[in-house]
Amino acid sequence: MSTFTVKDFKSDLKPVWCPGCGDFGVLNSIYQALAQLQLPPEEVVIASGIGCSSRLPGYVSTYGFNSIHGRALPIAQGVKLARPKTTVIAIGGDGDGLSIGGGHFPHTARRNIDLTYIMLDNGIYGMTKGQLSPTTGGDQQTKTTPYGVFDDPMNPLKLALSYNASFIGRGFSGNVKQTVDLIVRAVKHPGFSFLQILSPCVTFVGRDQFDVIRELIVDLDESHDRSSVEHAWKVCNEAGKISLGVIYEASRPVYEHRLEEQRATAKRVGPTSFDGLLKDYQVSGRAHSPGTGTDRDEAAREYEPESP
Ligand code: SF4
Repeated sequence: MSTFTVKDFKSDLKPVWCPGCGDFGVLNSIYQALAQLQLPPEEVVIASGIGCSSRLPGYVSTYGFNSIHGRALPIAQGVKLARPKTTVIAIGGDGDGLSIGGGHFPHTARRNIDLTYIMLDNGIYGMTKGQLSPTTGGDQQTKTTPYGVFDDPMNPLKLALSYNASFIGRGFSGNVKQTVDLIVRAVKHPGFSFLQILSPCVTFVGRDQFDVIRELIVDLDESHDRSSVEHAWKVCNEAGKISLGVIYEASRPVYEHRLEEQRATAKRVGPTSFDGLLKDYQVSGRAHSPGTGTDRDEAAREYEPESP
């Protein structure tokens, strides 16, 4: 019997997104995924940065933190390390996660901290009224590029794969059923999970975006080997279509477990108290006696450079 239902994860705040925004589909998927996972709301933290999609923690009745621009991942990592039993989800847009927050993405991936990062990718800065973002593609016209964009767009999947993210998937906010399944699998995966969810900005990219994406999407089938880096690269480099599903999944040591192991080792072999540390330091012959400075002077003399 289910203890928690979708209703338990809805907060009293009404989303202020534009009618038809893709982010509604992702929010719905998160409600359903959390209900499916049967996670007590008080054991879940959703952290975000700034942007339209970063408002999402306010709409879910778990713990949440709508923080500062680009900092969803540092906050999510801090929460996970301080409270390892908490389920931690970081949320944000393409601008938040790949521009100002771009430096945090590879580091979180390479550490393999057990959290899920959901990037709602709409290829634009929506909240600030339609400037180009790192994933704005082709010759798209935006408020700041009225004659089109000539930068090559960033591919967040490639970034995740390059830095060894142990779970990578892609979904579409217009396909809630598949997005729910991706979120459930990502949260269950031990280690860093990254999901790129295509989530149209109907106001600044266009109302036709759902149809444009629907024309291009295909589901990954059994011929795709999720454990193969080569297969994952193929998906990242595909043109003329957008494959959805779990792109890559691997088992790697989780950061928190390695940290625990190192703490246990340090306790076994290292000084376990301040006195022990002091003794260890004195034995090494580098200590100085307060008040006299004698030992410190000796140590300093030991390192004095020879006169030429
Ligand atoms: Fe959604 Fe775009 Fe409106 Fe922001 S500006 S709420 S991304 S439709």
